[in-house]
Amino acid sequence: MSAPKIGVLALQGDAREHLRRIDDCGATAVPVRREAELEAVDALILPGGESTTMSKLLNRFELMDPLRVRIRSGLPVYGSCAGMILLADRILDAPPDQETIGGMDMTVRRNAFGRQVESFENEVPIPAVGQPSFAAVFIRAPWVEQAGPSVEVLGRVSGGAADGKVVAVRQGALLATSFHPELTDDGRIHAFFVDMVRG
Ligand code: GLN
Repeated sequence: MSAPKIGVLALQGDAREHLRRIDDCGATAVPVRREAELEAVDALILPGGESTTMSKLLNRFELMDPLRVRIRSGLPVYGSCAGMILLADRILDAPPDQETIGGMDMTVRRNAFGRQVESFENEVPIPAVGQPSFAAVFIRAPWVEQAGPSVEVLGRVSGGAADGKVVAVRQGALLATSFHPELTDDGRIHAFFVDMVRG
């Protein structure tokens, strides 16, 4: 697969930044809003935004079930921030009726860094993408509270009050980060995902 077609869910959130990053990696980036568009992609990115809203829109646009089916059959998906919440099998600090797509055997806490913490940056070492540490931007971000044995931890916060909290994970073809690499100039997370898709 030389130039995989990578969709970015564009119902809500910062889809445009992800589309640009994917183009930079030499893959073909396309917005996804309909089931036919979902069926046509080799992989999908779930952007940051508001997971409660995205989950409602996924149902309204009749994408929730098709997406679950494709994930079960191995579709590579990368979720950033709200996208991480959507990929979690279990969530905390969410409205009782908030649904996720699921797929990753983990419990994710929404707004985990505290509601008062709107946004901050932290140097997150991610050995899988190499040196230096990732200058990670967190915006009302979740973290991974608990992860099952099939979930590989790729990165943890280093230093500060949240020292050691898990913020980057992979389970098979699914990748998730609490932070927003699409808002920085560092393309290594997107390049890593494109490599996963090519692999
Ligand atoms: N707090 C948001 C949510 O729960 C996620 C924030 C983000 O994606 N930047 O969906």
